[in-house]
Amino acid sequence: MFMALEHSSQDTYVKICEAVIECYPDSDVLPFYHVKTILANLSGVEFLVDHMCINLYTAFIGPYAHYDMCPECSQHHFDQIKFMKSNGCIKNPQAVFHTISIGPQLQALWRNPESAEKMHYHAYDDILIGSTYLNAVRDGRIKTKDMLLIISIDGAQLYESKSLDCWIYIWIIIEHSPD
Ligand SMILES: [Zn+2]
Repeated sequence: MFMALEHSSQDTYVKICEAVIECYPDSDVLPFYHVKTILANLSGVEFLVDHMCINLYTAFIGPYAHYDMCPECSQHHFDQIKFMKSNGCIKNPQAVFHTISIGPQLQALWRNPESAEKMHYHAYDDILIGSTYLNAVRDGRIKTKDMLLIISIDGAQLYESKSLDCWIYIWIIIEHSPD
C-alpha cells in the first residue's frame, strides 16, 4: 500500500489505513512512521537530524556543535524556557534540519537486481563525449567502476525583501539512462 501510494501525500496513506481498520478492525496495517522505519532498515537510507540556528545562519555541527549561541546572530542554540525550567538538563534545539545523504542512496541502487542493471547506462552523449569527461578519463580521475554524479543547485527567494534562504538542488546519476 505504501509503495502504491508513492506519489500521494502522507495524509492519503493515513486515511486509507483508517478506512481499512474501520472495515477490518483486526487487520494490522502499519502506521506511516512504522513503514518508513522498516524501509530505512531495508534500504539503509536514513535521514540525519542536525541542529541549526533559528535564523538559519549556523548549523550546529562540526566545530559549532557545542556552541550555545549562534556566532552570527547570537540566538540561543536551545529552547531557553525548557532549558531554564530544567536547570539546564533539557537541551531542545530551537530548530533542526534534515539531511538524506547521497551515499546510502547510491548504495541502495545496487541492492536490487533491476536497479543495479539500470546502472550500466553509459551512453549519455551530452556528457560522455564531452571534453570535460573525456579528459578526466584520460587523466585517470574517472575510472571504469566510478559512479558519476552531477549536482545542479540554485537559490530561491521565498519571502519578499529577504535574501535567498531556500536552496534547491538535484543530483543527476549519469549511470542511469535519461529514459
Ligand atoms: Zn543565528
